[in-house]
Amino acid sequence: MKEKFDVKNGLTRRGFIKTTGGVALAGMAAGSLFAGPLKAFGAEMPEKWDEEFDVIVVGSGFAGLAAAIEAKQAGSSAVVLEKMRVPGGNSIINGGVFAVAGSPKQEAEGIKDSPELLLEDMLKAGLYLNHVELAKTIAEKSREAVQWTESLGVQYKDRVTHLGGHSVPRSYSTHNSSGSAIVTKQLDKVKELGVDVRTQSYVMSIIQDKEGRAAGLKIKEGYRFPDESTGTVKYLKANKGVVLASGGFGRDLYFRTIQDPKLTENVDSTNQPGATAEVLMDALRSGATPVQISWIQLGPWTSPDEKGMGIGYVFNAMAGFVYGVMVDPETGKRFINELADRKIRADAIIRLGHPAVTIADSQGVRRVHNLDRALEKGVVKKFDTLDALAAEYNIPPEPLKETINAWNRYIKQGQDREYGRYLQTDSEAIANPPYYACRAWPKVHHTMGGIQINNKAQVIGLDKKPIPGLYAAGEIAGGVHGAVRLGSCAVLDCIVFGRTAGQSAAAKV
Ligand SMILES: Cc1cc2nc3c(=O)[nH]c(=O)nc-3n(C[C@H](O)[C@H](O)[C@H](O)COP(=O)(O)OP(=O)(O)OC[C@H]3O[C@@H](n4cnc5c(N)ncnc54)[C@H](O)[C@@H]3O)c2cc1C
Repeated sequence: MKEKFDVKNGLTRRGFIKTTGGVALAGMAAGSLFAGPLKAFGAEMPEKWDEEFDVIVVGSGFAGLAAAIEAKQAGSSAVVLEKMRVPGGNSIINGGVFAVAGSPKQEAEGIKDSPELLLEDMLKAGLYLNHVELAKTIAEKSREAVQWTESLGVQYKDRVTHLGGHSVPRSYSTHNSSGSAIVTKQLDKVKELGVDVRTQSYVMSIIQDKEGRAAGLKIKEGYRFPDESTGTVKYLKANKGVVLASGGFGRDLYFRTIQDPKLTENVDSTNQPGATAEVLMDALRSGATPVQISWIQLGPWTSPDEKGMGIGYVFNAMAGFVYGVMVDPETGKRFINELADRKIRADAIIRLGHPAVTIADSQGVRRVHNLDRALEKGVVKKFDTLDALAAEYNIPPEPLKETINAWNRYIKQGQDREYGRYLQTDSEAIANPPYYACRAWPKVHHTMGGIQINNKAQVIGLDKKPIPGLYAAGEIAGGVHGAVRLGSCAVLDCIVFGRTAGQSAAAKV
C-alpha cells in the first residue's frame, strides 16, 4: 500500500481501504471517489428481521439516553442498545461538571458571562478547528440543556466552578460531583416512558438498504465484553432511524495508536473499558465523513499514583489549579498557567518529563469533596510545613517557598504577574497549614474527532449529503470541540445533540 493521501485528489481509495481496515467497496460508484457507498448497499439486509422499532439508539450514556427520551416523547417506539453489563458508559463515571453560560447561578455570584463568550473560549481552545455552527449551537443552548436535566430531577450545587480554558467560572456541578446524577435521572425517565435499555447488546454493523438508508442493525445479544465469540446474532429493524451515541475510543489501543502512535499501552486512560471504536469504524465503512479523528485529549489533572481517572484529580482541579499552584519538582517553580486549557497544561507537564506537583493549603481545599478519601488512599498527602512537603517530593525547599511567596503577592496585588492566571474572587494567600499536595500526570481522556454531523445531528456522508436514517451525537461525533475540548463542555454537547438526534430520528428528517 503506497500512498494514503494524494495532494490533488485528497484521500485516495487505496488509502481509505487501508485506513478503515480493508472494507468492501462493492457499491462505490465508478469514477467518483467519494460519491458512492463504501458498503454494498443492500448486501447485508437480512431475509427476516428479528424485531423492529421506530428509533434504535446505540449507547446508553448522556447522548443516547437523551435521544431515546426525545424520540419516545415524539411518539416513536425506541430501544437503547448497550454492549456492557451496566448502562451509562463514560457518562456515569463522569465528574458531573456542566458548562452553562449566563446562568442564574453566575448572576447570583456576580459573574458576567454569555453564550458568545463560551463560544469564544471553545474556539480558542479548539484552535479554531471547531465546526463553528455546532459549537455555536451548544453555546446558545447551554441554559436550555441544564434546565432540561433539572426537569428530569437532577440537582446541582449552588456555586459554579472555574475549569481551565474558560474565561470565567461557569460550570455547574451535580450534587454528588458525578455524571451518575444525570444518568440515573435519564434512566428513570427512559423507564417511565417504557423504553428498554438492553445491556450486553453489542452492535456489530449498520445495515443499509438498497438506497443506502440506515435500515437497521446487526447485533449480538447476550454479549460478554470483551469476548467477541459470545452472544447470538440478531437483526433489528429501524423504521425511522438509527442514532449512534456509542461514545469515544479512549480505551481502544489499536484505533488510538493508529491516530496518535504516541498513545501506546504505556499511557493510561480515564475512560471505561468499553470506550472503543468499532461503531465509529463501522460508520466510516457506511460512508460517514471522518472529522479530526487524531485529536485525542489528555487530561492534565490525573495522578500517576492511581489507575484511571481515580480520585486525586478532584484535588488538582478544584484546589491545586484554582486556589493553589503547580510546580516542577525539580525546580520548585511554576511552569504554566494552571487554568490554561487541557492541552496546554498536559503538554507542559509532559515536556517536564516527570509528574508535576500541585499544592494548596487548608483554605484552598475547601471545595475538594473527597479529600478524606484521597488522603486515605495516599494520592493526596498532607503536611504541617512546606519543608516537609518539599522533602516528600524532592523539591528544593527555598525555591518552592519563593514560588509560594510570589503567588501570595499576586493575590494581594490582584494579578498573576507570571502567567496571567484568572484569580478567583475568594482566593486567599497560601499560608494556612496544613498544606496538601498531589502529583499530576496526563492520561487519555477524550476523543474530539469522530464522524461528521450537521445541526440536525444527521450523519454526513462522503457524498456530502446526510446518510438517510443515520444520526449521531456525543463523543462519536467530531467537530464540536475542534482540537481541544474544554472541561464541562462534553455533557453540554451530549445533551444538546443527543436530544436533537432523537427528535430528528423521530421526525425522519
Ligand atoms: C472519568 C471521566 C470524567 C469526565 N468528566 C466530565 C465532566 O465532568 N464534564 C464533562 O463535560 N465531560 C466529562 N467527561 C467526558 C464525558 O463524560 C464524555 O464525553 C461523555 O460521557 C460521552 O457521552 P456519550 O453519551 O457520547 O458516550 P458514553 O457515555 O461513553 O456512552 C457510550 C456507550 O456506548 C456503548 N457502546 C460502545 N460501543 C458499542 C457497541 N458496539 N454496541 C453497543 N454499545 C456500545 C459504550 O459501552 C457506552 O456505554 C468525563 C469523561 C470521563 C472518562
